[in-house]
Amino acid sequence: MKQVNRVVIAGAGIGGLCAALALAKRDIQVVVCEQAVSLGEVGAGLQMSPNAMKVLRELGLEAELSAFAFVPQNAAIRHYKTGEYYLKSPLAEQAEVRYGAPYWHLHRADLHQVLAQACSQAGVELVLNSTVDSYREDKALNQVCVSLDGGREIWGDLLIGADGIRSKVREQMLGKERPTFMGQVAWRGVIPVSDLTVNVKPDACVWAGPGRHFVSYYLRGGDYVNFVAVEERSDWLSESWREEGDIAELKRVFADWHPEVSQLIACAKSTFLWALNGRDELPTWHQGRVVLLGDACHPMLPFMAQGAAMAIEDAYVLAENLARHECHAALVEYEQIRKPRATKVQQMSKANAGLYHMQGGVFGKAKLRALQAAGRFVPNVIQSKLDAVYGHDVTQG
Ligand SMILES: Cc1cc2nc3c(=O)[nH]c(=O)nc-3n(C[C@H](O)[C@H](O)[C@H](O)COP(=O)(O)OP(=O)(O)OC[C@H]3O[C@@H](n4cnc5c(N)ncnc54)[C@H](O)[C@@H]3O)c2cc1C
Repeated sequence: MKQVNRVVIAGAGIGGLCAALALAKRDIQVVVCEQAVSLGEVGAGLQMSPNAMKVLRELGLEAELSAFAFVPQNAAIRHYKTGEYYLKSPLAEQAEVRYGAPYWHLHRADLHQVLAQACSQAGVELVLNSTVDSYREDKALNQVCVSLDGGREIWGDLLIGADGIRSKVREQMLGKERPTFMGQVAWRGVIPVSDLTVNVKPDACVWAGPGRHFVSYYLRGGDYVNFVAVEERSDWLSESWREEGDIAELKRVFADWHPEVSQLIACAKSTFLWALNGRDELPTWHQGRVVLLGDACHPMLPFMAQGAAMAIEDAYVLAENLARHECHAALVEYEQIRKPRATKVQQMSKANAGLYHMQGGVFGKAKLRALQAAGRFVPNVIQSKLDAVYGHDVTQG
């Protein structure tokens, strides 16, 4: 039944490499074109929830990744000043028992490196320093021709646009349109534990405050602490969507926060500042012999920590369908399975901004109180929301 034998992927991010590995494991030939001169990822952490871990396990990467993982004890939401808990939900062994896979924290560079190595061992061809410029379909040949910026052309049965939020592939498929600035910026940083002067709890912790929130968690077996500090802003003036952050400004913005936050920030030596961008749901994810995955089709606010997880799920479902069906049917089925889920998680992520930032003044605080009461008296209500995200298993589809 399979009709796709050779796939070209634009982008060697986490989504592109997962797709490459999943396809290569199904005996489909893969060429990945990456614009960067060398492979690498930003120095930041990733919360890898059980739904994504099930895919990484199925791809045979769990044992290797375990050497780099940190296992958080709880998912927590705390008051920005008092440190009072609005939510404390156990992860660690309980995540494994409840969801059938662990909840881990990984350094992005570690995950990326393990994926790249597995791709190379599986025979994936990686072409660096190669920006995908455009594509054209040859309907007579049932092929797509991918043009790189140096003039080189690569042919395949299918092009996957895994080229992130500013996807060129998406642009050609659906028209030029800038991503929307979501009114939030994020400072990110990683601090060696040896530099800490404050005791940080081994949890995945969100500190919720008016118009801002702060996330902290350990990485690499507990050798580093990762932080993400988010602030609402009306505009983003820089042309770049990532720039060196001003530590003094970060300290000022979070100066009156709980000592666990302000002292942690005091230990940071450098930080990057990101504009958080998004997109509305796209009308379609595929056209002819071209298909999108990950941030290229559903960028989301990182407030559920699910952007990479959704890209990983997409990659697996797409590969599975391409191995089972002819091209068009595979793409239709892929979109039918993935679009409703990714869109739902996108919406949940946006809704968390309101919760974490106490939007709506007294009403906003009441939402956190309701969460606290629900956590105490009807924990199943909270749990069922997380179950729908973490309990999902695309490998059993
Ligand atoms: C502050 C923050 C915290 C986050 N935390 C989490 C988290 O804890 N858990 C989680 O699951 N997600 C998290 N995310 C989301 C996650 O980072 C993204 O959703 C994920 O990286 C998307 O992966 P991707 O492969 O689709 O795209 P990308 O990671 O953007 O990769 C795209 C790749 O394509 C390449 N490329 C781009 N254009 C071209 C071109 N024309 N030709 C060739 N190559 C090209 C790029 O160089 C890049 O390598 C977070 C995001 C932010 C901003």
